[in-house]
This record gives sequence, structure tokens and C-alpha cells, in this order.
Amino acid sequence: MSNIEQTLSIIKPDAVERNLDNAIKDMFKSNGFLIVKEKKIQIEKYEAEKFYKVHETKSFYNDLCSYLSSGPIVAMVLEKENAVLDNRELMGATNPKDALKGTIRERYGISIDKNSVHGSDSLKNAEIEINFFFKD
Ligand code: UDP
Ligand code: MG
Repeated sequence: MSNIEQTLSIIKPDAVERNLDNAIKDMFKSNGFLIVKEKKIQIEKYEAEKFYKVHETKSFYNDLCSYLSSGPIVAMVLEKENAVLDNRELMGATNPKDALKGTIRERYGISIDKNSVHGSDSLKNAEIEINFFFKD
């Protein structure tokens, strides 16, 4: 039985700044993901605060929201079977130091805050996050 899902991916400012967007998109494509929607934008800090609201009590929340709004990002809707979990696997651990070899964060992440990509962590959050960027 097929289980086609969509998930939200963001190429974060550190990666866009280093012109890694095409290399990262190629990693998605070669791992079977279709990029069904895509846009390059810069968001305002209040929008980043809304996007990352689940983290509002964390010590890193303010820096995280400043960072996500600090430069252009690429938001994408990725589609494939088991897209949510498969994208998390391809991204690698939050801290690039812990990310497995061959993952996006192992290859391109600089630090736990500049870790190059965001990916939805559940099907429900994927729907919410896709709506956040691509409500039309
Ligand atoms: N983050 C951070 N410091 C921390 C933990 C997380 O700066 O100690 C940042 C990091 O960029 C991460 C984001 O906050 O990607 C969201 O954290 P989460 O735990 O949801 O990690 P993710 O789902 O991105 O792997
Ligand atoms: Mg997360």
C-alpha cells in the first residue's frame, strides 16, 4: 500500500548564503523526493516567532527566530512515500556533530543553530507548516 505524504522543508539562511540550495535540492531529488512547491523568501522576525511557537519557552527561541529571519530561505513542499520520516532521516540529527555520514546536516551544517535545513517532525505539523508558507 502506498503512503504518499508531503512535508515542509526549509533551506535555512546559512545554506542559502553559501549557495548550497541547488546541492541540497539535488539531495532531495536523488533520494526520491519531488519538490512540488518552492519559494525563496525572507520572513520577518514575528513570522519566525509564529513558525517556531512550539519552542517559545526554550532558551534558544529568540536567537532561533532572529536567525531564521536574518536572510533569504527556500521553503519547499517535498512529496514521496513516508516523506516526513524519510526527510528527517536525510536531514540528520539537529546537531551536525551528531548527524550520520551522508546526511544534509553532516555535509553542510555548521553548528546546532546553523544546521542548514528545517524539516517537519510529524504529519500533523507538516500540514500546519505547509499551510504557513503556501496558503493560497
Ligand atoms: N536549536 C538551537 N539550539 C538548541 C536546539 C535547537 O539553536 O539547543 C535550533 C536548531 O536550529 C534547530 C531548531 O532550533 O534546528 C529547532 O529545534 P528542534 O529541536 O525542533 O530541531 P530540528 O527539528 O530542527 O532537528
Ligand atoms: Mg523541530
